[in-house]
Amino acid sequence: MRKRAYGLLLPVLLAGLCLAAAGERQAPVASPPPLQVRSPDVFQALRQEMVEGAIIGWGIQSPDVIRAMGVVPRHVFVPDEYLDQAYANHPLPIGHGQTISQPYIVALMTQELEVQSGDRVLEIGTGSGYQAAVLAACGLEVFSIEVIGSLVEVAQAQLEEAGYQQVQIRHADGYWGWPEAAPFDGIIVTAAPDHVPQPLLGQLKVGGVLVIPVGPPGGYQELWRIERLAEADYRSTSLGGVRFVPLTRTEDAGSD
Ligand code: SAH
Repeated sequence: MRKRAYGLLLPVLLAGLCLAAAGERQAPVASPPPLQVRSPDVFQALRQEMVEGAIIGWGIQSPDVIRAMGVVPRHVFVPDEYLDQAYANHPLPIGHGQTISQPYIVALMTQELEVQSGDRVLEIGTGSGYQAAVLAACGLEVFSIEVIGSLVEVAQAQLEEAGYQQVQIRHADGYWGWPEAAPFDGIIVTAAPDHVPQPLLGQLKVGGVLVIPVGPPGGYQELWRIERLAEADYRSTSLGGVRFVPLTRTEDAGSD
């Protein structure tokens, strides 16, 4: 018995010595643990600051949107190397030359859809999955299309981790919309085409709203809110200048 006990004790003591040695090499000033290992409370506090400063402070008024921005864990949707900026009010790289949008823009576009819990919404440009999560947190039935296959997988995993696995994602060119799931109460496009895709206008319900940035890649783009007033009647309102990654087209997507 005693022999066995010593056998266990020695590795434990050695491990302790190694840890102590490692500890001595660290900087004398205590630094905070990396964000990955901080408690969820830290992220919640940062998120609350973001909601007060960049969402309510910048003029977002919809209670549903404010609530959604306060619950969706944005840190789950940003790459580890940018965790410390997860709740800053600017876009962040997510790989493949793409970005997760600025929190204020996510909130503004969601608010401008003017949809209600239970409505059906299409997003073009899933990216990280964050915008889709915010839509789902507003109680919407979310369909989202992403053209880059590896981003579809990452977004799916991140949505699951955040608790929004009900979002349906399709790997395709979003220019053509999602005809089988149409018509939609709202459509939100998070990459900029140089013209408004006709198929998306056709997949809106009468009374539905399309929110879309339009303009040349890297140039001046304008964010539009387009409401379908009747079968063949649309009203466009400008929401101002924005900068989005371009809506890219797949080669086999047709010539339209
Ligand atoms: N809504 C995203 C922002 C993504 S950036 C988020 O919350 O993180 C824009 C995304 O649009 C990119 O992931 C890009 O790959 C995608 N995209 C570009 N062209 C597309 C197209 N034709 N169809 C679908 N997605 C497209």
